[in-house]
Amino acid sequence: MIIVLNSGAGEAQIGSLTTFLEGRGLDIHISRGVEHTVVGCIGAVDEDKQNLAEQLNALPYVDRVVIISKPYKMVGRAFAPEGSQVQVKDVCIGGGQLVVMAGPCTIENEQMLRDTAVAVQSAGANVLRGGAFKPSTSPYSFHGLGQAGLKMLAQVGKELNMPVITEVMDTRDVEMVSQYSDILQIGTRNMTNFALLQEVGRTGKPVVLERGWASLIEEWLLAAEYIALRGNFQIILCERGVRSFETYTRNIFDISALIAARQLSHLPVIADPSHATGRANMVTPLSMAAVAAGADGLLVEVHPSPETALNDGAQSLSFKAFEQMLQKLAPVATAVGRSLKASS
Ligand code: PEP
Ligand code: MN
Repeated sequence: MIIVLNSGAGEAQIGSLTTFLEGRGLDIHISRGVEHTVVGCIGAVDEDKQNLAEQLNALPYVDRVVIISKPYKMVGRAFAPEGSQVQVKDVCIGGGQLVVMAGPCTIENEQMLRDTAVAVQSAGANVLRGGAFKPSTSPYSFHGLGQAGLKMLAQVGKELNMPVITEVMDTRDVEMVSQYSDILQIGTRNMTNFALLQEVGRTGKPVVLERGWASLIEEWLLAAEYIALRGNFQIILCERGVRSFETYTRNIFDISALIAARQLSHLPVIADPSHATGRANMVTPLSMAAVAAGADGLLVEVHPSPETALNDGAQSLSFKAFEQMLQKLAPVATAVGRSLKASS
């Protein structure tokens, strides 16, 4: 941490600051410049830094305080410089193979789920997605089938030997959803629901953590830190676009954030091109861009008939479009040293 003093700060003030910092157990180094005195201090306890900076900023002779080290530890790249992987049954996320999670936004009935699962699996998807608890912006939207949907998801996943992912929105549902799903998804609206993050942390189950649509990269990583601090390192970050002034696309896919997350954290990072764009005809090119930029996988919405979907039809791929997308992705994956599961 570096403390820059106001130009008028005198020896008496430097002395009282020194006493204060040494009293906190910090080593200090004073550098007297022509205009400003700068105090460097080493050894602050991690959790204290933010608060200590605030206290120091409250001193009238302090101009500003610069925190040097990152506020997250467990999910930071330095914790596992080689990167970490999340293993879900026989699927490894963060390794050489790109992981494609695909399925309907929302499970509408067992037949549409099974048909979609068969189609996406044969095209080369590794994980089946399907919402049972949907946190829509409008209270009038379809909010999913709840536990009945979870049962369908677990059943179809079992039949096809495919791991499944679904969203959990409420701390009260975490235990129940964990019984049916291999991966717990924290949606964009819940990225800062800290009680929920802690609860999924306690389960030890793999978690896909969507970036909040108005969250800083640092806030996203701190949300992951909440999960890791409960002993759960099975975390996959998911960039799904952020809000902007643009209305043509549903969100702005923040490719810089995807790259930054991979540089700042050891956790695998996947991309959701469906919610990022809101437009089916943009999903393939965006997926190619995300893979080229280093994404470890994709989370894609696929529906048997997007024109009748109860949720997110405009961004859902048909079976054919999904199959074509994976064919187009293959050479991009190869170009960046990754592979895709073969279609069957
Ligand atoms: C979803 O995957 O259907 C979803 C709602 O994602 P997000 O929370 O990122 O909007
Ligand atoms: Mn959706």
